[in-house]
Amino acid sequence: MPILPILTFPNSILRKKAKPVSVIDRELKDLIKDMTETLKHAEGVGLAANQVGVLKRVCVIKASPEEEYTAYINPEILKKSGTRYVQEGCLSFPEYNGIVKRSLNVTAKYLDKSGGKIKIDAKELLSQALEHEIDHLNGILFIDHLKDHEKLSKAGKENITHTHDIDLSINIDKKNKDKFDSKLYTKIGLDDLKLALERADILKEVEG
Ligand SMILES: [Zn+2]
Repeated sequence: MPILPILTFPNSILRKKAKPVSVIDRELKDLIKDMTETLKHAEGVGLAANQVGVLKRVCVIKASPEEEYTAYINPEILKKSGTRYVQEGCLSFPEYNGIVKRSLNVTAKYLDKSGGKIKIDAKELLSQALEHEIDHLNGILFIDHLKDHEKLSKAGKENITHTHDIDLSINIDKKNKDKFDSKLYTKIGLDDLKLALERADILKEVEG
């Protein structure tokens, strides 16, 4: 199972819309295996097929330590609710991250590796990962969601050693460094995240 090269911005394939999978064959299963190995190797949260140069609607996500690497075939968001701002990065933008607007909850449907139809209600990192990866399949990148006044920032050295596809460490700018440690979002509550962002004066328009 080879580790695939991950395409980086501005590779034009990242801007192409992936095509729906019509048959789950050996080729697709091999792709999923390779994407899983690639994601594991990159220590990322999610990887979409576009990122390895394949225009098929499939992504692999592992949003929590307890969760297995899961393949989502033809994933589609049916419903989303709520708004939050999170620090996000992408394996196709090594060493960069920025604040983006995401939903609190998403309901999605997809096919699993055996072709089973699955419907899930996702929150926290999984909902963010689904939004991020389904965006990829539509040629949309996280930089498209950056808040107007936010610029893409170069991640700190401490982040470079652990570049995640969806990097949720709250790495507030230097002047607040002493107040907030980098934490994985999965380990803290939403309220803590909001508070951290408010205090850092990044969240100017808390909604809801
Ligand atoms: Zn990405």
